Amino acid sequence: MYDLTGKKVWVAGHRGMVGSALVRRLASEACTVLTADRGRVDLRDAAAVSAFVAAEKPDAVIIAAAKVGGILANDSYPVDFLYQNLMIEANIFHAAHESGVGKLLFLGSSCIYPKFAEQPIREDSLLTGPLEPTNEWYAIAKIAGIKLGQAHRKQYGDDYISAMPTNLYGPGDNFNLNSSHVVPAIIRKAHEAKTSGARELVVWGTGTPRREFLHCDDCADALVFLLKNYSGYEHVNVGCGEDLTILDLTRMICRVVGFEGEIVHDLSKPDGTPRKLMSVDKLFGMGWRPRIELEAGLAGAYDWFLTHHAADAA
Ligand code: GDP
Repeated sequence: MYDLTGKKVWVAGHRGMVGSALVRRLASEACTVLTADRGRVDLRDAAAVSAFVAAEKPDAVIIAAAKVGGILANDSYPVDFLYQNLMIEANIFHAAHESGVGKLLFLGSSCIYPKFAEQPIREDSLLTGPLEPTNEWYAIAKIAGIKLGQAHRKQYGDDYISAMPTNLYGPGDNFNLNSSHVVPAIIRKAHEAKTSGARELVVWGTGTPRREFLHCDDCADALVFLLKNYSGYEHVNVGCGEDLTILDLTRMICRVVGFEGEIVHDLSKPDGTPRKLMSVDKLFGMGWRPRIELEAGLAGAYDWFLTHHAADAA
């Protein structure tokens, strides 16, 4: 439906894990990829974003830029997660509309859904119940982004769409234990435990919450698929349709890394939402499927960690 040939596509947030995966994926399309470092345009600055978009005139925009973080970071810095994400998305939507951008794809996350949503979570569960408190700040900002896209479609007829990826992992992930998500945290902890000869690896919470994980390259592929093939009011879930417990995930990572010690639990840390498996009926119904199996993807993520971070890990 949307032909990328000859188009200029701005990937906002190209340094992040999803943004860099998008840049890699778009390299095989007949389009030009536009990127801008923070020094060129601060996405929280409305005037700067408008000036950038007016000067560069992209045909399409993907909003992969966001203030992101794991369960502890979200819970500890609510203003950063709410304010920065609201500003980034409001500025880009507004500038895109002003400059006549023909197609825009906004990215959110599965945490937009109610804490006790029926599983697997369908797109129409949005706003049917209270959110998970540990990440409601990020979730509220992302729900506002979905609504901004819908408002542009309703008021102006703009072809702006939204995709909600599940928990992502892969090359370019954040391995800082205070702000990371669970996959990079456990990869790092397992590596450090193995190399230091420790007998234990500490996992936050009970290990019973279930999470769904998608490799960032599969996610980028799905996003380009949606950019080309989807035009609709409702957002689309992006996942693989399968989840596992945090304990099973930890065991899998320990296998990949080669750590054979004991897994212990730090119950002072939060579990977060008990489960957030998304329904992928809508995306799969359009013909898209993921390609990277979890254990193979985790092995690739561990290789990336070894190349980029192992030296500064303790
Ligand atoms: P969430 O999906 O928003 O809850 O974000 P996370 O990826 O940060 O956490 C997912 C689950 O993994 C939660 O139940 C965490 O308590 C659990 N978890 C276990 N160990 C860790 C860890 O070392 N870091 C993080 N971030 N989460 C962990």
